[in-house]
Amino acid sequence: MSATAVAGPPPGPEPADLPDAGYAAVPTRIPDRVPDRILGRRGPLPRWWRDVTAAAAWALVLFVVALWVAAGGLQLLDGAGDGLTSVGRLAGLLASVLILLQVLLMARIPVVEQAWGQDELARVHRIVGFTSFSLMLGHIALVIVGYSVGTDAGVIGTFVDEVLHSPGMLLALAGAIALVMVVVTSVRRARRRLRYESWHLLHLYAYLGAGLALPHQLWTGQDFRSSAVATVFWWGLYAAALVAVLAYRVAVPLWRSRRHALTVSHVVAESPTVTSVVVTGRDLHRMPVRAGQFLQWRFLDGPGWTRAHPYSLSAAPDGRSLRITAAAVGDGSNRLRALRPGTRVLVEGPYGRLHGGVRTRQRSVLIGSGIGITPLRSLLEELPAAPDGVVVVYRVGTLDEAVLADELLALTAERGGRVVAVVGHRHPSRSSWLPASAGDLDDAEALLRIVPDIAERDVFVCGHPAWMDTVLAAAHRAGVPRDAVHHERFAY
Ligand SMILES: Cc1cc2nc3c(=O)[nH]c(=O)nc-3n(C[C@H](O)[C@H](O)[C@H](O)COP(=O)(O)OP(=O)(O)OC[C@H]3O[C@@H](n4cnc5c(N)ncnc54)[C@H](O)[C@@H]3O)c2cc1C
Repeated sequence: MSATAVAGPPPGPEPADLPDAGYAAVPTRIPDRVPDRILGRRGPLPRWWRDVTAAAAWALVLFVVALWVAAGGLQLLDGAGDGLTSVGRLAGLLASVLILLQVLLMARIPVVEQAWGQDELARVHRIVGFTSFSLMLGHIALVIVGYSVGTDAGVIGTFVDEVLHSPGMLLALAGAIALVMVVVTSVRRARRRLRYESWHLLHLYAYLGAGLALPHQLWTGQDFRSSAVATVFWWGLYAAALVAVLAYRVAVPLWRSRRHALTVSHVVAESPTVTSVVVTGRDLHRMPVRAGQFLQWRFLDGPGWTRAHPYSLSAAPDGRSLRITAAAVGDGSNRLRALRPGTRVLVEGPYGRLHGGVRTRQRSVLIGSGIGITPLRSLLEELPAAPDGVVVVYRVGTLDEAVLADELLALTAERGGRVVAVVGHRHPSRSSWLPASAGDLDDAEALLRIVPDIAERDVFVCGHPAWMDTVLAAAHRAGVPRDAVHHERFAY
């Protein structure tokens, strides 16, 4: 069993033979085998969680429509002004329920987070977000035009009158402006120009927007107060969203960090730019974390500690320690190498679905590029041993970038598997997961050459988002069913 370079310039040294550059502070080694009592209790993830959570979301939306019908929404459609207002009210109600769903989607409720995973949740969050925003604009336009029908005030006059004289309307306008800001900064082109921290801070204004809309719904929203059922439903939904955020984004992380009392154990330089940090703590065998998952990390090493960074586990949790491996790309990751043993650590999580519990097949393919290999490296420890049970496809620009290569080779040797290094820089114009030196080799064809039975395996993918898109498309064309593909993007 050995690593193979399938494409790229002269193969160079195999990962197993990478020269020791002499920069490792503590020699890299494979942690002791993870005790079965820790791996054993992490069974498959119930698939029905997905169906139940999706059905619950749709039920909420349908219930809101039913409340609107029950409050006479349909009868009002006859008159021009009333008809517009009634449809406008429905749009407002749907905008409200979708905004609250948005909050629930991102509240890190364990069942929701585990059923869908961050990638999928972020995609749904984006679609629901733009839909609720459009409905909110439709609500404002339709209700104002509807109110203005049959008056002399005109649309602008009615708008000004409503904002100034209807209870809670000035606050609702402020909430709408906050949401406009969130949406504008979430448009991809604008988002790319913002630092992650600035974008994230602005994004939190969505909570403000949802909160500021509440008073106008309470004071003037007919459908909000049309019946005891409606009132209880809306209060209940607002309360559930608030409680979920406070519980899962604040209380649970603080409790977990305190309970496990995490501290840095040691730091390992894996290469000039990649660092592993090993963290230990109390009762770590009780932390419900699986190989392949990620956590949000805060190292209390000085100013700037408040900014959390997501890092995946690069070794399976063994009940005594957790390990991450990070590439230095900016302020936060550059600081990791200087962490001192004993530095306190706060975590949020674990999050993510890139773990053994989502497997649908006996055998797997792990496809990672660059530092995206980290969760796959830890996942490798959780996969069952079987002849040719796992193929690791490791895409790197040069073999020197192949961090953790020794561990990958040792683990695949132990479990029955192989590592295939796909080496070389990307094509300047062609969008492909392969290096430029692969020429015109088709993406799916390349996958099939490396793993001929890929369609009968689970495929785990992690790396740069644009590269991942090409791998996912290739896997699809190679016949891998959608539910056998599992991925995590290292991007927000
Ligand atoms: C689910 C997930 C798992 C990850 N796992 C790993 C890992 O195991 N190893 C690894 O090296 N990297 C991982 N990353 C990427 C890592 O989080 C970023 O490289 C790191 O946060 C950059 O912070 P910085 O201060 O060093 O750089 P900055 O200069 O602040 O940012 C550099 C880039 O990182 C992105 N980034 C910054 N902060 C965040 C954040 N809080 N969330 C998401 N993206 C951010 C920005 O888009 C920016 O392009 C992961 C990212 C995600 C989303």
